[in-house]
Amino acid sequence: MTKWVYSFGNGLNEGRAEMRNLLGGKGANLAEMASIGLPVPPGFTITTEVCSAFYDNGRKYPEDLRAQVDAAMQRIEGAMGLRFGDADAPLLVSVRSGARVSMPGMMDTVLNLGLNDETVQGLARSSGDERFAWDSYRRFVQMYGSVVMGVAHHHFEDVLDQFKRTLGVIDDTAITAAQWREVVKAYHEIIHEHTGQEFPSDPQAQLWGAIGAVFGSWMNPRANTYRRLHDIPASWGTAVNVQSMVFGNMGDDCATGVCFTRDPSTGEDVFYGEYLVNAQGEDVVAGIRTPQPMSRARAEEGQHPMEMVLPDAYAELLRVRALLERHYRDMQDIEFTVQRNVLYLLQTRNGKRTAAAALKIAIDMAREGLISKEDAICRVPATSLDQLLHPALDPKADRVQLTRGLPASPGAASGAVVFTAEECEARAARGEDVILVRVETSPEDVHGMHAARGVLTARGGMTSHAAVVARGMGRVCVAGAGSVHIDYATMVMTIDGHSIAEGDWITLDGSTGAVYLGRVATIPPILSDDFNTLMGWADSIRRLGVRANAETPDDAKTACRFGAEGIGLARTEHMFFGPDRIGHVRQMIIADEETVRQRAINALLVFQRDDFVSIFRIMAGLPVTVRLLDPPLHEFLPHAEAELAEVATALGKTVEEIRARCASLAEANPMLGHRGCRLGLTNPEIYAMQVRAIIEAALQVSDETGKGIVPEIMIPLVATRAELEVARRAAEAEISAVLQERGAALDYRIGTMIELPRAAIQAGEIAHHADFFSFGTNDLTQTTFGLSRDDAGSFLPFYVDHGLLPKDPFVSIDREGVGALVRMGVERGRAAHPGLKLGICGEHGGDPDSIAFFDEVGLDYVSCSPFRVPVARLAAAQAALAHRKENASA
Ligand code: PEP
Ligand code: MG
Repeated sequence: MTKWVYSFGNGLNEGRAEMRNLLGGKGANLAEMASIGLPVPPGFTITTEVCSAFYDNGRKYPEDLRAQVDAAMQRIEGAMGLRFGDADAPLLVSVRSGARVSMPGMMDTVLNLGLNDETVQGLARSSGDERFAWDSYRRFVQMYGSVVMGVAHHHFEDVLDQFKRTLGVIDDTAITAAQWREVVKAYHEIIHEHTGQEFPSDPQAQLWGAIGAVFGSWMNPRANTYRRLHDIPASWGTAVNVQSMVFGNMGDDCATGVCFTRDPSTGEDVFYGEYLVNAQGEDVVAGIRTPQPMSRARAEEGQHPMEMVLPDAYAELLRVRALLERHYRDMQDIEFTVQRNVLYLLQTRNGKRTAAAALKIAIDMAREGLISKEDAICRVPATSLDQLLHPALDPKADRVQLTRGLPASPGAASGAVVFTAEECEARAARGEDVILVRVETSPEDVHGMHAARGVLTARGGMTSHAAVVARGMGRVCVAGAGSVHIDYATMVMTIDGHSIAEGDWITLDGSTGAVYLGRVATIPPILSDDFNTLMGWADSIRRLGVRANAETPDDAKTACRFGAEGIGLARTEHMFFGPDRIGHVRQMIIADEETVRQRAINALLVFQRDDFVSIFRIMAGLPVTVRLLDPPLHEFLPHAEAELAEVATALGKTVEEIRARCASLAEANPMLGHRGCRLGLTNPEIYAMQVRAIIEAALQVSDETGKGIVPEIMIPLVATRAELEVARRAAEAEISAVLQERGAALDYRIGTMIELPRAAIQAGEIAHHADFFSFGTNDLTQTTFGLSRDDAGSFLPFYVDHGLLPKDPFVSIDREGVGALVRMGVERGRAAHPGLKLGICGEHGGDPDSIAFFDEVGLDYVSCSPFRVPVARLAAAQAALAHRKENASA
């Protein structure tokens, strides 16, 4: 018999924390908490395998599931001394979803399940509080009606708002039992009106309805979007947790709250969170009442911290905090309820945190001895370092502050205000910077948040949807800015007298919560000591070298600042577009007289030499790989009339002659045309000029600094051994000429990019003429898939959305196809030439998953854009640790 149901609490804990794949994160942790003696209300978890079986069998449950659920319910009844559906002493339960990883896009929770017109009386009697019983009942009908039966939330809210207006009350706590009874009646009617069905009064029907809704929600569009954004496979499924209710809404000695064992924004070692007296879980996140802080230290004037209001429960919570951190060795995000001064824990999980917090917590915990340095390295997601490298507001910049909300996710962002996720996505796709402004966000907004530079909400706390999701995504977020009033009908928001329409610019400071009018200047991030510590630890562990792709002095300086160990790719064509150079480039291409052409080349030689001198100086002896000209010639051709006229004058030709020459250079398929080494072989004087400039610059900087500069000259787009052989010979002839002229000696390397499938297959042959290979995985992906780098954007998202490809192969290396060619290139290249140095300089060099692959196939280094250098350093260390672990377990 398959075990589908695992009980927890009251002495029977069938699950453990390690069973999160089977029980989901929530279920596994409830069992774990109960087993270490924490006060967890009894319940059970229906496994994720049921979810998979449900979908495999046409949405039918396994046959023996019902019997196992019945037995587990009886255990809860026994533990609580109550009975499910009993009109005198009713057991109420909560039903929650719980996947392996937390998924805010799914159905969340139904509370107070088991109530109906009879059991509500029993609850009133057993609690001695009729108002509480009816309040619980109305919450249940609303939640069940919206979450399980699909009636839009606002229908219930409209009724309640209308009701409160008629009664003239503001606070829900002022509503009496008899009045709640009326609301329940109205809610039943709404449900009937919108679904044509009666609200189910049978608790068993309620229970199975809720279980079905959880499993059904696994495949809803929101969950699908969330999974896609976070690479969560649909096959994982969700678990369902059914748990005895405890009540935070039974009076002023009751409360509910959400807290973090350390500050999730900064990582500071302070107990951090929010709670509400006399409330149920959803009240804290719903933003209807303003939650209060936990600790006195964090309270502002007029606030009522839990430490003061419920001191006994708070003291108990402090004890639990320490115990949980010691047990899980990580920062925890806890949900709790206090019922009549007694603390219950409803959830614990590793808390989501900003990159800054992840970093601080990892370093602090390693220093506290809770975790090892290796653990600390693995605790900080490599891509999250991007957040730390985000700009902050320039303290010297002028600014007009509009308001202040909660500093929910750090960094500074400016953009045009938009009020819907759709508009946000549309504008971002057009390359605009946008700030999504909402009263509050919900899972439907996630795609817009992803597209936005920042998110501003009028409602909600540090644990609200906007805050949690933005933090996870690394978007700047200011939440709960109460003075923001949004009119969705007119698409205008007002903030203390300022009127801001869609498209107007604002700036958010997610580190302070401030909102500014217009665009405020930013400054680059200042890297903390913790950052440097972590980078140092990562460097001591990684095997892969990390270089940067850089060709401007600014990029080279950034690369050095971020710890690059050299330049893996300087794209020389990027140096040719400057206004002082492009004219010479055009003359070089178009001139038909040798002397004119040579004049243009000589002019370019001076520019190129200066370019290389500055880069060699900045890199101060670190290796620099300079790639000779790659793109098709026609990219440099003149188009505008003025450009044509300028070239015509310089060459003494007519505009028409120049136009005709340009037309003759056009290609139908330039990416597969006259580019890369093909250009260097057919027009050898271009590469000769570049080689000369590199060598002369290297000699100059070697002389200046006394550091031997060893330039690495890279030939692009090689497909055959003969191409490299000839190109190398030509380069060496030029190098010899320069060295002879100068009477100097210089060490140098000549290598090639491996960026065509044929080159990977023929790597053994090509390696005979190469000192190094650098895999150009951008072109290798393009040519292996036959997928245009420039045009794939219009259909690749469809491929990823529909599971035709697991990921965009230009972002994360396709291990089976492109990766197999890289592996082949490595093996064949090294077999033929054991000392061959191997790197990669495509965009994949900054992608952590791809870096793990490059580590595995044994490359020497990765090269990526300067801002991704820290990401690559950390990802390389994480890859090394993962390999160590694999080897240890093999
Ligand atoms: C590549 O193709 O991966 C590469 C680095 O070269 P480029 O992007 O300049 O074509
Ligand atoms: Mg390329």
